[in-house]
Amino acid sequence: MPDTDTRDSEQGLRTPIVAVLGHVDHGKTSLLDKIRGSTVIEGEAGAITQHIGATAIPLDVVSKVAGSLIDPSDFDLPGLLFIDTPGHHSFTTLRSRGGALADIAILVVDVNDGFQPQTLEAISILKQSQTPFVVAANKIDTIPGWKPNEDAPVQQTKEAQSDRANSKLDEELYEIIGELSDEGFSADMYWRVQDFRGNIGVVPVSAETGEGIPDLLTVLMGLAQRYMKEDMAIDVTGPGAGTVLEVKEEKGFGTTLDVVLYDGTIREDETIVVGGLDEPIVTDVRAILKPRPLAEIRTEDRFEKVEEIAAASGVKIAAPDLGKAMAGAPVRVVRDRDIEEVIAEVRAELSEIEVQTQEQ
Ligand code: GDP
Repeated sequence: MPDTDTRDSEQGLRTPIVAVLGHVDHGKTSLLDKIRGSTVIEGEAGAITQHIGATAIPLDVVSKVAGSLIDPSDFDLPGLLFIDTPGHHSFTTLRSRGGALADIAILVVDVNDGFQPQTLEAISILKQSQTPFVVAANKIDTIPGWKPNEDAPVQQTKEAQSDRANSKLDEELYEIIGELSDEGFSADMYWRVQDFRGNIGVVPVSAETGEGIPDLLTVLMGLAQRYMKEDMAIDVTGPGAGTVLEVKEEKGFGTTLDVVLYDGTIREDETIVVGGLDEPIVTDVRAILKPRPLAEIRTEDRFEKVEEIAAASGVKIAAPDLGKAMAGAPVRVVRDRDIEEVIAEVRAELSEIEVQTQEQ
């Protein structure tokens, strides 16, 4: 992440934020683990950066995992930021100004099990929030007769399968495409999709063997680059805006906030406004903390202080008076703005979140 000193306004492209949704046991956690795992292996040491509550995969790592599927010169977005907590509960509570915090979602569907109640729930949430998504048709390695090819692109591994395994997979995939169509989405195998705005791409994957992971990262990156680039253009040095993932006691720091920052920067000692149980909380940032790189972790010293951090990123914020802060609430850096205006902005957003919660 760029830890920049520049104080002037500076346009830049931030990392798109990705969330994972789907029915229980369909493989959300395994998929995230696999994505992190394969990028750790493929990347240079330290190339993927562990954030608080999120994992950043830079473009060069995406491009190494994707191999021939991607030409990195086609991209100028910096990579992908995956929210570590899967599930649509976290998706619905994690909001940004007027929408979902995640810019893109992966809907995980067990290829054998097809659509289940929580798949439908996730779809209705994605529809409501108008979040673009791809379907990861997971567990392809469990198709009878499947011969795994670790970490291979899906078409390559498909070519190596028997006709029987292939036609069984196709049958299951077309069932998923049919179920998407019942929900009002035009969908197809991702390699046949020309326009990802009007069509949902289905990516066959295995979180167990890594097959299809190159494809999944390629599709996400392509979708973001093609259709979200304008939304990713932010003033990277502007006052930070973020969403609270969690409120946590942390030894030596008291109550802290795990925050996903989706706009601007946040600096040590700055005044912030945070959504609270009764009223917005106004406080000063005492410390901004990132996880220490794995190799350096000592038990009593898990975090590293930084003076400033830019979006998109996951950080821990230590500050006084956070006892009544709420998960899901907005965080705003005041900087050179009128504090009353910022408080009003946070209050307005909180009431919107409360309305949403009541509707569910
Ligand atoms: P979640 O509830 O959606 O987060 O699902 P999990 O990631 O916990 O996965 C549920 C179970 O399915 C676990 O036992 C996983 O090991 C298994 N699983 C997940 N993905 C795959 C896959 O691609 N292939 C196989 N064979 N098993 C998988």
